[in-house]
Amino acid sequence: MSKNVLILPGDGIGPEIVAEAVKVLNVVNDKFDLGLTLEEGLVGGSAYDVHGTPLPEETMNKAKASDAILLGAVGGPKWDNLEDRELRPEKGLLGLRSGLELFGNLRPAILYPQLADASSLKPEIVSGLDILIVRELTGGIYFGKPRGIRTLENGEREGYNTYVYSESEIRRIAKVAFESAQKRNKKLCSVDKANVLEVTVLWREILEEVSKDYPDVELSHMYVDNAAMQLVRAPKQFDVMVTGNMFGDILSDAAAMLTGSIGMLPSASLDKDNKGMYEPCHGSAPDIAGQGIANPLATILSAAMMLRYSLNEVAAADAIEEAVSKVLDQGLRTADIFSDGMKKVSTEEMGEAVVAALS
Ligand code: NAD
Repeated sequence: MSKNVLILPGDGIGPEIVAEAVKVLNVVNDKFDLGLTLEEGLVGGSAYDVHGTPLPEETMNKAKASDAILLGAVGGPKWDNLEDRELRPEKGLLGLRSGLELFGNLRPAILYPQLADASSLKPEIVSGLDILIVRELTGGIYFGKPRGIRTLENGEREGYNTYVYSESEIRRIAKVAFESAQKRNKKLCSVDKANVLEVTVLWREILEEVSKDYPDVELSHMYVDNAAMQLVRAPKQFDVMVTGNMFGDILSDAAAMLTGSIGMLPSASLDKDNKGMYEPCHGSAPDIAGQGIANPLATILSAAMMLRYSLNEVAAADAIEEAVSKVLDQGLRTADIFSDGMKKVSTEEMGEAVVAALS
C-alpha cells in the first residue's frame, strides 16, 4: 500500500538539507520497494511570503492526509520583525504540532565514535553514546492553567504557573516510551521529582502501572537533579529516558550538547498512532543559508527515524544509519564537524556520499 510523506523544506538552510534527505529517501524507496509517495508543501516564512500565513490551510490538510512529515527548519531575520506574533514562522511549526496532536517528542543523542572529539566531554565518556530522550510535548507546566502574573492585595506582583498532568496524558507518553525502548536496548529510565511534586508522584505510579504491559522492558526511576548530573557524569548508562515537558526540554538540550555537533541530531514528534513529524534538532541557520555548507546529516537521520517509527520500515532505516556511519568512516565532514586530516565537503557532496554508500 502506498504511503504518503509530506516534505516541508521551510526556510534558511531547510531547502538545502531537505533536498539531500529527499535524494536518500528516493534511493531507499526504490531499493526496499517502500511504495512511498513524496509531496511538498510550504511552512514558516516561505509560506508567509506566498500565502500571508506560516501555516496555510493547504499545508495543514496535506499534513493531516499524510502518513508522516519530514521538515527542514523554519524562521529567519526576514520575518523576525513581523508585528503580529501569530504570523511568525515558528507559529507554523507549533500549529502543526498542536493541530496533529504530536505529544511524544523523541530526541536521540547519538555520538558517532568517529566524532568523539566534537564533544566537550572526554572521548571515553561519550564515544558511542546512543540515548533516546522521550519528552512529553503538549502538556505539563508549559500549558497548565491557571497561569499568569497577578497583583496581590499588598500591591506586590506574583507570577504563577500550574504543573498538571492527567492520568491519560501520562499513560500515552509512557506507551510511546516503552515501545521505543522495545525497539532499542529495553531499558527505560523515567525522570521525575516525586520527592517534591505530587504531579510526578502520579507520573511514577502510572509508569509502574504501564510497565506491566511491557515485561521485557526494565523500568527505573530517577529524580531530575540526579538525572542531569548522571547525563554529564556517565551518560552511557542510559538507553531510553522519559520525562515531562519542562524536564525534557532541559535534559534533551543537555544530552544534545554531549554530542557536540548539532548538525547531526534528528528528532521526531509523534501522535497516539505513531504518525509523526520528523526534523533536525537545529534551526534554519540563516548565517550559513545559501552557501551550500550546511550539514544535511541530521535531516537524513530524521528521514531514517521516520522510516523506523512511523512507517515501520526498519531495514531501510538501518541502511540509512549505516550509510551515514560509512561516510563518516570515509573521513567526509561538513564544515561544522570538520577536523584536521578529514575531507571537507559541501551539503550536496555529503548527500551524494550517503546515496553512494547506500548503493
Ligand atoms: P540554529 O540551530 O539555526 O543555528 C545555531 C548555530 O548552529 C548557527 O551557527 C548555525 O550556522 C549552526 N547550524 C545549525 N544547523 C546547522 C547545520 N545543519 N549545519 C551546520 N551548522 C549548523 O539556531 P539559531 O541561530 O538560534 O536560530 C536561527 C533561526 O532558526 C531562528 O529564526 C530560530 O527561530 C529558528 N529555529 C527554528 C527551529 C525549527 O525550525 N525547529 C529550531 C530552532 C531555531
